Amino acid sequence: FVQALQIPGTKKDKGKKEPEISETEKKKMSLEETKKSLPIYPFKDDLIAAMEQFQVLIIEGETGSGKTTQIPQYLYEAGYCKKGMKVGCTQPRRVAAMSVAARVAEEMGFKLGNEVGYSIRFEDCTSERTIIKYMTDGMLLREFLSEPDLAAYSVLIVDEAHERTLHTDILFGLVKDIARFRPDLKLLISSATLDAEKFSQFFDDAPVFRIPGRRFPVDIYYTKAPEADYIDAAVVSVLQIHCTQPDGDILVFLTGQEEIETATEMLQERTKKLGSKIRELIIAPIYANLPSDLQSKIFEPTPPGARKVVLATNIAETSLTIDGIKFVIDPGFCKQNSYNARTGMESLVVTPISKASANQRAGRAGRTSAGKCFRLYTAWAYKNELEENTIPEIQRTNLGNVVLLLKSLGINDLIHFDFMDPPPHETLVLALEQLYALGALNHKGELTKLGRKMAEFPVDPMLSKMILASEKYKCSKEIITIASMLSVNNSIFYRPKDKVVHADTARQNFFLPGGDHITLMNVYNQWEETGHSTQWCYENFIQHRSMKRARDVRDQLEGLLERVEIELTTNPMDTVAIRKAITAGFFYHTARMDKGGNYKTVKYHQTVMIHPNSSLFEDRPKWLIYHELVFTTKEFMRQVIEIENSWLLEVAPHYYKAKELEDGSGRKMPKNTGKSRDEVTRKY
Ligand code: ADP
Ligand code: MG
Repeated sequence: FVQALQIPGTKKDKGKKEPEISETEKKKMSLEETKKSLPIYPFKDDLIAAMEQFQVLIIEGETGSGKTTQIPQYLYEAGYCKKGMKVGCTQPRRVAAMSVAARVAEEMGFKLGNEVGYSIRFEDCTSERTIIKYMTDGMLLREFLSEPDLAAYSVLIVDEAHERTLHTDILFGLVKDIARFRPDLKLLISSATLDAEKFSQFFDDAPVFRIPGRRFPVDIYYTKAPEADYIDAAVVSVLQIHCTQPDGDILVFLTGQEEIETATEMLQERTKKLGSKIRELIIAPIYANLPSDLQSKIFEPTPPGARKVVLATNIAETSLTIDGIKFVIDPGFCKQNSYNARTGMESLVVTPISKASANQRAGRAGRTSAGKCFRLYTAWAYKNELEENTIPEIQRTNLGNVVLLLKSLGINDLIHFDFMDPPPHETLVLALEQLYALGALNHKGELTKLGRKMAEFPVDPMLSKMILASEKYKCSKEIITIASMLSVNNSIFYRPKDKVVHADTARQNFFLPGGDHITLMNVYNQWEETGHSTQWCYENFIQHRSMKRARDVRDQLEGLLERVEIELTTNPMDTVAIRKAITAGFFYHTARMDKGGNYKTVKYHQTVMIHPNSSLFEDRPKWLIYHELVFTTKEFMRQVIEIENSWLLEVAPHYYKAKELEDGSGRKMPKNTGKSRDEVTRKY
């Protein structure tokens, strides 16, 4: 390794030596034997005994020790699923919920979706027979709406607690509360790291059950100088390992789908050039939107002589354990929500990871034997630039969604909610103000009829408001199509490197006046006309899988519309009505062109740009609504539509004043007839 500078592994990395289990031997073991080889297995009886004794238990154990896959099975054997009672286990990530459920179903000899199932947003793979249910933390949160005491569960496992996602943090407060009046309910809080003390304190000093880890030494290497292009550096490192190092698979941490696709293409190109000079390199990506049939590729055993490289988001940090990894490449970044409560601007930003994350990542190399971790940053940067721990999501995200949910659960006093770490005051206030402007809360901060309906939809408040507003504009059919396409929006168009021109032309052929939402609707409608043809997708550079997913989401939204008693109405030719409905939900996301020809957000005058892929990139209308912001080199608006400023007064009279919407043309805006925004929302 040319650039790498070796520093000796710390004491902690060195762990105690244990005999290595060779991969081939392991493959021979039956599933049963594999289960028995997991670190948690010797503690099975003790664990069950502890559960009998205590209502709440904190479980701490190294990633891969068997917490997620084994504990629910132990509970099943111990009789916790009698009379159809369920064991529920939450996961912060949808991919983990799906993959773990599949594994457990296989281990238990059940068909996935029967006794063992999973539930993630827009996809319920459970049945009446389900007794072990994996689900995202967000889905369990939603279950409180229909069943506030979660009576169907005998045990709840809040897994991956150390991830501290927003939904997990809210769950902590809620499950702690129901445990008080449901003494029969058992709670397990499971964590991969050393935060157990903090969880224990929060849960009234609940006992901590530690599963001793099995960890082999991992040597850590740093680069001598910072890397300018970490994707390229990661690709180079993979090839160097592949050509110079003995057997063992590689795990690379990247920040998202786009990076993973780029790295995949680069690796394919470069290995092709090297041809038969090198051994086979199997490239296996894993990220949230990867179709489920491709996800299992990461778990397939590597054939003798070959090497596997897994390109993963931080899902592979602790949520999924991949056996056989001996080399970890860690560029030191992840994608994080970043929210500015002052401006209400939220975007996904590539951010340096914390030391805790870096150490978790390194640990993935030492699970079954000694390994190596290559950090694509300097030892100095590790020591001086990385934070100790990742900031909990609740302190850096928009709270609109959970505030609406908590209000629907009748929790009005949010300030005194039992938070493990409370969100910043101004973020809470802003969430309440936004919900008020959307009409979900009244001036006393109470849920309105509209708000109650909005809470039925498992989507952001702006999106649910858009959907509900479609009733007024008689275009609910178009709007749910758009909403479902937006939910998969970044994976609709396929753009292979060797056919960029063709792909772009195909995409541009779908453009319709009005903007990107209308274009997405056009794609969906045309696909529907072909009878959902795969061939048509292929010819038009559309990802068929994403379309199928959009169709599933759309079906669910249609069902939810029925539940809130909104008729399906259609108004396909009237894009003004459609765009007004969108504006009714997304009026917060308005940008206007200033005199210099630059776009600024209306309320806070932040500079933003139209994404080059947008159909409006050249038209550049004066007033725009954007769906989301992505920060790369600049703040880009992704998915935009053209609007008229007068619509803003029509749909959001509480929020906009005529004066701030004057466009300099001398045309006077109509008088604002709505009530003006008052200070009452600050009361909660
Ligand atoms: P923990 O939750 O403690 O991190 P898990 O229960 O997730 O541990 O993993 C235990 C074992 O099960 C690991 O060896 C892992 O590789 C294996 N495993 C988990 N999911 C799958 C899967 N979908 N396919 C194959 N093996 C899996
Ligand atoms: Mg786990």
